[in-house]
Amino acid sequence: MEKTLVIIKPEGVKRGLVGECISRFEKKGLAIKQLAVKQIPAELAKIHYAHLADKPFFQGIIDAFTASEVVLMILEGECAVAVVRKMIGATNPLEAEPGTIRGDFGGALPYNIIHASDSVESAEIEIKRFFSDSWQD
Ligand code: ADP
Repeated sequence: MEKTLVIIKPEGVKRGLVGECISRFEKKGLAIKQLAVKQIPAELAKIHYAHLADKPFFQGIIDAFTASEVVLMILEGECAVAVVRKMIGATNPLEAEPGTIRGDFGGALPYNIIHASDSVESAEIEIKRFFSDSWQD
């Protein structure tokens, strides 16, 4: 069965949307395999968003992602990566469809509430990245 990584970002935690997000995933039939609350170190956030390192808004993304603790979870289900990406919606909340998490709750970028792996390969890397014991909070 396929696994994916979801992170409720600091803005989602601050706005009290953790339960809402988890509830949607549970109702969809996805299984929660691991769940954690962690403060992501800036060095790890920079690795996670390395594909955006040349963008002028890079530091803003890192600041938003490390502003407080985040809620991380490994979800499992059939086609979990694609299903969860569809449920969270487009990167920009202004473009995300109503009914998606970002479409319903997202603010202005970079505050789109939630992250989810965008491919099976990314999911494997991100699960190791955030659930290995090689770093602590
Ligand atoms: P996704 O999170 O949908 O996989 P990206 O990997 O492209 O999308 O972007 C990572 C994160 O960077 C986004 O979730 C968002 O928080 C932030 N971001 C993306 N594009 C912008 C932008 N143009 N301005 C500010 N922040 C952005």
